[in-house]
Amino acid sequence: MIITDTHTHLYSDAFDEDRHDMIKRAIAENVSRFFIPAIDSGYTEAMLKLEADFPDHTFLMMGLHPTSVKENYQEELQHVEDMLAKRHFYAVGEIGIDLYWDTSTLDIQKKAFRHQIQLAKQYELPIVIHCRNAFDEIFEVLETEKDDKLFGIFHCFTGTLEQAHRAISYNMKLGIGGVATFKNGKIDQFLKEIDLKHIVLETDSPYLAPKPYRGKRNESAYIIKILEKLAEIYSVSEEKIAEITTQNSKEIFGV
Ligand SMILES: [Zn+2]
Repeated sequence: MIITDTHTHLYSDAFDEDRHDMIKRAIAENVSRFFIPAIDSGYTEAMLKLEADFPDHTFLMMGLHPTSVKENYQEELQHVEDMLAKRHFYAVGEIGIDLYWDTSTLDIQKKAFRHQIQLAKQYELPIVIHCRNAFDEIFEVLETEKDDKLFGIFHCFTGTLEQAHRAISYNMKLGIGGVATFKNGKIDQFLKEIDLKHIVLETDSPYLAPKPYRGKRNESAYIIKILEKLAEIYSVSEEKIAEITTQNSKEIFGV
C-alpha cells in the first residue's frame, strides 16, 4: 500500500526538533509520497534542504500563499517566477484567497492568484488552491481562467456539495484532510456523493490534525486516520482508498 500526502509542510519549524523521526514514522506507515506546498520566499531554503534530505519522497511546489500577499507581493511573485524558470516544481501552490486573516488585501490577493494561475498554465503545472472564507471570490477568478490548461487541487476542501461539484467543474480534485474526521466538519455528510476519482488525501501538517489528535501538532503519519474515515464513508477497504487517491495524485502531479 502506498499512501500519498498531497499537502504537508514538512519543512515547518514545528518539526525542527524531530523532523527526521517524524518523516520516518510516516514512511513506516506506508505514507511515502509527500507533496510540499510553498508559502513565501522565507521558506524556500528550508524546502530545498528538505528535498535534499529526502529526495525519493518529497516533491516540491512553488507559489505565494494568500496570507503572504502583502505590500511586497510583486517581489515575492518575482521570486516564484525565478524559481519556476530555474528548475522543476510539481505544482504552483499554495495559492488562492484567504479572507479569514485579512480582507484588506483582497484586491492584491486576487491579482497574485490570477498571475500564478497563468504561470502554472505557462509551465503546464497544476495549481493547489488555498481557500478560506472566499469560495465566491475564488470561483470568480477560476471562471475567467477556465480552460483545458487549468487543473489542480482544491486543498483542504471544506465547502458544500454544490461547491464541491463546482470545484470539480474547473478540473480540480478535492483535497480531503482532518476536517473529514471532525464531528462538526460537515463534509463527511455528503462526501459519498462525490466519486473517489475526484479525491486526494492530505494532512496539511502541522495544522488541522484529525481526530483523535485534533488541536495537537499534525504529522503526515496521521493521514491513516483520514484513510480510515474515507474507507468508512465509501464502504471500501483502506487499501482501495490508498490506491485510488495515490493514482489520482499521480495524474495531477505527473509523478
Ligand atoms: Zn498548507
